[in-house]
Amino acid sequence: MNNPLLADFATPFDTAPFDQITPNHFLPAIKAAIAEAKEDISKIKAEALPTFENTIEALDGSGKRLGIIAGIFFNLNSAETNEEIQLLAREISPLLTEHGNDILLDQELFHRVAQVFEQKSQLELSPEQVTLLDKTYKSFVRNGAKLKGDKADQLRKIDQELAQKSLKYGENLLAETNKYVHFVDQESDLDGIPDGIKEAAAQIAEEKEQPGKWAFTLDYPSYIPAMTYAKNRALRQTLFMASGSRCAKGDELDNQEIIKNILKLRHDRAVLLGYKSHADFVLEERMAKSPDQVISFLDALLEKAKPKAKSEIKELEAFAKELDGLEELKKWDFAYYSELLKKEKYSLDDELLRPYFQLEKVIEGVFQTAEKLFGITFTPRKDIPLYHKDVTAYEVTDKDGKYLSVFYADFFPRPGKRNGAWMTSYKGQSMKGEVDVRPHVSIVCNFTKPTKSKPSLLTFNEVTTLFHEFGHALHGMMAKGRYESLSGTSVFWDFVELPSQIFENWCYEKECLDQFARHYETGEKIPEELIEKIKKASNFQQGYQTLRQISFALLDMAYHSKDPSDIISIPDFEEKVMKATDLLHKVPGTLMSTSFSHIFQGGYSSGYYSYKWAEVLDADAFELFQEKGVFDKATADSFAKNILSAGGSEHPSILYKRFRGREPEQNALLKRAGLISE
Ligand SMILES: [Zn+2]
Repeated sequence: MNNPLLADFATPFDTAPFDQITPNHFLPAIKAAIAEAKEDISKIKAEALPTFENTIEALDGSGKRLGIIAGIFFNLNSAETNEEIQLLAREISPLLTEHGNDILLDQELFHRVAQVFEQKSQLELSPEQVTLLDKTYKSFVRNGAKLKGDKADQLRKIDQELAQKSLKYGENLLAETNKYVHFVDQESDLDGIPDGIKEAAAQIAEEKEQPGKWAFTLDYPSYIPAMTYAKNRALRQTLFMASGSRCAKGDELDNQEIIKNILKLRHDRAVLLGYKSHADFVLEERMAKSPDQVISFLDALLEKAKPKAKSEIKELEAFAKELDGLEELKKWDFAYYSELLKKEKYSLDDELLRPYFQLEKVIEGVFQTAEKLFGITFTPRKDIPLYHKDVTAYEVTDKDGKYLSVFYADFFPRPGKRNGAWMTSYKGQSMKGEVDVRPHVSIVCNFTKPTKSKPSLLTFNEVTTLFHEFGHALHGMMAKGRYESLSGTSVFWDFVELPSQIFENWCYEKECLDQFARHYETGEKIPEELIEKIKKASNFQQGYQTLRQISFALLDMAYHSKDPSDIISIPDFEEKVMKATDLLHKVPGTLMSTSFSHIFQGGYSSGYYSYKWAEVLDADAFELFQEKGVFDKATADSFAKNILSAGGSEHPSILYKRFRGREPEQNALLKRAGLISE
C-alpha cells in the first residue's frame, strides 16, 4: 500500500498531508515507524563507546517519524474523530505504551546513559546539554532502571496495581455520577432556572422515559446551572447532597478503601525509588522543588486570602438574609446567592459584551498584540492541507521576515471534536545539525458559532480563552532549542501555564482592547466603564475562590507528603486537614476525597497547587510589563528570549529569574485579585 504517512510529505513546509490521509493509513504507518524507532535505538547500542552525542543527543533525535505520525493521529482523535479513529486509538495506544516501556526498561541502553551521566563534570556541556543529560538519566531512574531483581519486579507490580486502582476509582465515580437522576414534576419548582436549561432538563426526563417531567443529573451542564439558578432551596440541597456523597456511602461503589490503597501504593513506590514520599518524588521535577516549598507557598496565600474570604461570606450571608430571610447560609446556597449578588453588584452579563468581541476582530487583535510585542506576523496560506474546512492555516514569520512556524486555528464545535480548548503541535522544534527545524502548532477551541444573521460574537470568557491558548502557541512557535524534548512547551508542569496565563492579562488592558474590541455593527470602541466593570467582576469573591483552591491543594499535599499508614478514616482525615479553610459548616455525609478525581484518577497528584503557582508567576511577570509599559519592547524581548524561546533548556527558576531579575513574589497576584490593597 502506498502510505502517505510513510512518504516524504510533498506539502508546503512539510505540513501533514491531511488531504491524502485516510484512517486505514495509521496502523501500518505507526507499526513501521515503531520499527524504525527501534532501529534508531539499536544503532545507539551498537556504538563502541557511549558519548553525549551518540547516546543522549541520539536518543533525543530518535523516533522522530513516530512522533509526527502519532501526533497527527492523536490530534485528529481530539479534533476530528469518528468511530473508526476511536477504535484505532484502542489498538495504537497500547503499542506506543509498550514501545515507551521497551526503551525505559532496556538495561543495556540505561547502562550507556548512566556511563555518560557519570562523566558529566568532565564533558564541558552547555547548560541545555546538562539539562538534557539529567532529564534523560532521570527518566530511566524514575522508572526503576536502577532497581535489581526482586525490587524491579515489585515496582512493576505496584505500577500495575496503581493503574487498576486509579481506573476503579474513576469507574466508581463515573457509575455514581451516571446512575443519579432527580425528577421534578412541577414547573413551579424550577423558578429561576433559565429556559434553555429547563428545555435540556425536559429532554433528559424524556430520555429517561418520564416525558412531561424535568430531570437533573450530576453532569456539570445539568448540575451547575441548577445550583446556580434554582430558587428552590430543597432542590439545591437534594442535588448538593447527591453530588457530595458520591462514592462515600459505604456500598460497592465506595472509594474510601481505594483511596487508602492508592496512597499506600504511591508511597511504597516512592520509597522503593529512594524518595521520602510521593510528593517528594513528583516535586523533584517541578519548579516548586519540595513539599515544604509548596506548603509554605500555600500557607502564605492562605493568610492573605482568609480574611477576605470571611468578609465575602459575611456579605453574602447578609445579602441572603435581606433577600429571603435566610437564617443560615448552607453550602447549597452559596452559588445561588453569589450569582444574584454578582448581578446586583456589576450588572454585567455576556450578552452585553458579546457585540464588542467579533471573532475575526479578536483574532486580528491577538495577532496584532503578538506583532507589537514580538514582531511576528501571520499570513493565511490557502495551499496548506487541512483536516476540516473550518480550520485556517497561517505562515508565521519572525521580525526579520524569516519563516518561524505554521499555525493552525480551529475554532468551532462539531460532533467529532472534544469539549474545551487546547493548544497542541504537529511537529516539534529542534536543530538537525545546523538546520533549524521549525514547529507546526495548532489551537483548537469550541467557540460560539456564527448564525445566519450574526457573525461569531464571543463571550469575554471565550476571549480570554483564545488569548490563553495563543500564549501556549507562542511558547511553541517561538521555540529556539537544540533538542526537541526540551523545546517549546516541554517544560516543568508548574511552569507551562506561565506563557498562556500571562497572555490573558492583555485582555484587560485598554491599550490592547482598543485594537480590536469594537462593536460589530457600529464600530464603536468598547466603553471604558465596561472594561472597569469586567476587571471588578473578575475579582468577585476572589478571597473565597482562592481559599477553595488552597484547601484542595493542601488536602492533596497532606495525602501525599507523608507516610499514609496512619490514615484510618478518610472523613476524619479530610475534616482535620480542611478545617483551616472550610468557612461554611461541613455537611455530614459528604466527602471531597471520594470524588477528587484530579488527584486519584488523573495526573494531578501532588500537583493541585500548580493552579495557584502559575497565577502567582503570571501576575508577577506581568507586573513588569505594567511597570515598563504593556507593549514595552525591551521587556517583551526579554520575555521572548528568557521564557518563550528557552523552553525547558534550564531549570524554570533560573529562566524566570533571568527575566524578572529576582525570584517570583506573591504580591502582584494578591493585588490583582484584590486580596491586599495597592
Ligand atoms: Zn493552559
